[in-house]
Amino acid sequence: MADVLVVGAGPVGLTLTCELVRHGARVRIIEARTAPLPYCRAIGVTSRTLEVYEDMGVARAMVDAGLWLTGARTEVAGYPARDALQDLDDLPYAALGVPQGETERILAAHLSGYGVTVERGVRLASFTQAGDLVRVDLDGPDGLQMDHVRYLVGCDGAHSTVRKALHIPFEGEAWPYPFMLGDVRLDFPPEAPLPRGLALRGLRLMGEDGPPEMFIAIPLPEHGRYRVSMLAPAEDGALAGGDVAHGIQTEQRGPDLSDIQAAADRVLAHPPRASDLRWSSRFRISLRLAERYRTDNAFIAGDAAHIHPPTGGQGMNTGIQDAYNLAWKMALVLKGIAAPAVLDSYEAERRPVAEQVIADTVEE
Ligand SMILES: Cc1cc2nc3c(=O)[nH]c(=O)nc-3n(C[C@H](O)[C@H](O)[C@H](O)COP(=O)(O)OP(=O)(O)OC[C@H]3O[C@@H](n4cnc5c(N)ncnc54)[C@H](O)[C@@H]3O)c2cc1C
Repeated sequence: MADVLVVGAGPVGLTLTCELVRHGARVRIIEARTAPLPYCRAIGVTSRTLEVYEDMGVARAMVDAGLWLTGARTEVAGYPARDALQDLDDLPYAALGVPQGETERILAAHLSGYGVTVERGVRLASFTQAGDLVRVDLDGPDGLQMDHVRYLVGCDGAHSTVRKALHIPFEGEAWPYPFMLGDVRLDFPPEAPLPRGLALRGLRLMGEDGPPEMFIAIPLPEHGRYRVSMLAPAEDGALAGGDVAHGIQTEQRGPDLSDIQAAADRVLAHPPRASDLRWSSRFRISLRLAERYRTDNAFIAGDAAHIHPPTGGQGMNTGIQDAYNLAWKMALVLKGIAAPAVLDSYEAERRPVAEQVIADTVEE
């Protein structure tokens, strides 16, 4: 019997499983998707997450797969562009850019080094708690399956099955405007070259007429390639607040090259030329924080517990640090070395961090 069932093999579920197994727990990890998402969501990895990676033993692989992010150029239409370079010399690590798919690939490979593989195509259908055990009902390629575990952890993203089943309120609001994303090559004109490692933030303020137009380009490790994002055209309609799904909208058409070029041309004085679009998508953002991170032996972590705009690149980083915090405590309790009360410190320590991240992203 596994001690823990981790639901979701995003960066948070993979980190949690790696760490639980490293500390001696027996873990199953299930993932509803049969294959990873082709879109790149998180890129920015903070220096604290790199310290976590070092302790886990994956920092070298992440650095090899990434690109150091050296700062950002901000250009507000009508004003000269300004470069803000990151000065992180006093920290052991600077900020790294690793596409989320690469992060997940490296974590899954690290996990398989412990002899654990992600059970893909398996979905948590429901669960009940009785005494010290959680009974879980799983729906997978072999049909319905039942198991018992001591702990269940929902790392199952913004629309978490675990959080909903626990009736944990997820208060907050949806940002009313849809965004578009794309992975393109950008060639900057000779009069405005962008040094490698620098992100570009172009803004055109619209005053009372609505949100600023924007063109944001985050460098990817492959030379000349960027993940660009911008607001979707106004005619696509802003949805008012309420129940807008957070995250990538796989069912919606993403921008094509001409949409991306038009956004750059509208906002930047010396726009780069966009070419070779590999994928594009749309996404929506919300700000929400779970009222609690646990009910008895069922926990939530990562986007299941907190969601916020990608500004500042904190979603995945915060979730990975949730997992790092929870894993060693849970493993010590399972070994009988620590009292179960130590698990109460997980929410006490991690929820205020998410609260602060949400407050900071609102300010930005
Ligand atoms: C455009 C964009 C840019 C971003 N940039 C950054 C950035 O630079 N830095 C940063 O830190 N963050 C960034 N983020 C946020 C980051 O992508 C998320 O915070 C991160 O993916 C959360 O990881 P997670 O493992 O908690 O959830 P997810 O990555 O959503 O993974 C959850 C997994 O659970 C699975 N699942 C769901 N329900 C079930 C079920 N019932 N049974 C089994 N499996 C299930 C899902 O299929 C999914 O694979 C960005 C997000 C977006 C949209």
